[in-house]
Amino acid sequence: MDSLHIELSQNLKQKPEPSALGFGQYFSDHMFMMEYSLEKGWHDPKIMPYGPIALDPSAMVFHYGQEVFEGMKAYRTAIGELVLFRPDMNLKRLNESCERLSIPQVEPSTLLQGITELIKIDASWIPSGEENALYIRPFIIATEPCLGVRASHTYKLMVILSPVGSYYPEGIHPVSIYVEQRYVRAFRGGTGAAKTASNYAASIKAQEDAKQSGYSQVLWLDGVESKYVEEVGSMNVFFKVNGEVITPALSGSILAGVTRDSVIALLKSWGIPVSERKVAMEELVEAHKQGLLEEAFGTGTAAVISPIGSMKWGELELSIGGGKTGKLSKKLYDTITGIQRGQLDDSLGWRYRIE
Ligand SMILES: *Cc1c(COP(=O)(O)O)cnc(C)c1O
Repeated sequence: MDSLHIELSQNLKQKPEPSALGFGQYFSDHMFMMEYSLEKGWHDPKIMPYGPIALDPSAMVFHYGQEVFEGMKAYRTAIGELVLFRPDMNLKRLNESCERLSIPQVEPSTLLQGITELIKIDASWIPSGEENALYIRPFIIATEPCLGVRASHTYKLMVILSPVGSYYPEGIHPVSIYVEQRYVRAFRGGTGAAKTASNYAASIKAQEDAKQSGYSQVLWLDGVESKYVEEVGSMNVFFKVNGEVITPALSGSILAGVTRDSVIALLKSWGIPVSERKVAMEELVEAHKQGLLEEAFGTGTAAVISPIGSMKWGELELSIGGGKTGKLSKKLYDTITGIQRGQLDDSLGWRYRIE
């Protein structure tokens, strides 16, 4: 692999107010880029000023969507360290997504070096403020100018950085969700287990419809029988039923979330029973009837833990936890964010120190 080339921006941008960041609206001064060709493999890694890129209108990504992406965050801890959270998991998943989309895999150490150098250069973009972080978005696109349906012979890998605010400006609070019966996000043999744009393209209509009806997220059911729970919005989903925590097993149509994995590991370490299996909507309705559906929450890098306060399924409206954030949801949120921000002991070795 060629050595990393760095070109610094001569024109630094003004930074946004840390109190008004929102999510994914601002981008730092630099970006990482690397090219792939059949002859050279992945080559020419560089860090350069953030800005538009030129692509041929016939670039394959525009026509057939051959693309994968990742999402992770960098934090500044109380003692000033720069850290990532379990980046090895994201790099491994990126390559699993590549495999599914017929995109050539990336040497994890090369990409991690690119990401860490980029973050060091743009470290002043890590926003101050307890709940803020620098979101990291690596992605790969098919760039070959060709309208044939096949794997591209050239690709571009890029990493961009976005300072983001708390997902919950007024503190963590439960959301109402709509159980989707008409559309599906993924199905057996599809790309549900890959982090790829087309899964999202297929989900936007359902998400917009749910928003129109006053729900903040869609709960996806399986694409074969529309019977079993899969994910909520762009998050994995968990239910606490009569003291036991259950989450859909990784069946091939569900994304293997890093936060999901972390939640399962923490629950096990606390001696709380947790099982990964099929979860039928009927089972949740039955548990709710008996007063045993104690908590429900989504998990993902952006929100960490997103409590579910109610679920609308056909004519049924299930209220969970009386509109309050459950005790376990809160404990998981506090523990994971505490580890990420260096306030809690990292006994599981999840913090990755950059500087
Ligand atoms: C990224 C993503 C998640 C969450 O994964 P994390 O690694 O926890 O951020 C869950 N579901 C989908 C569909 C995703 O794209």
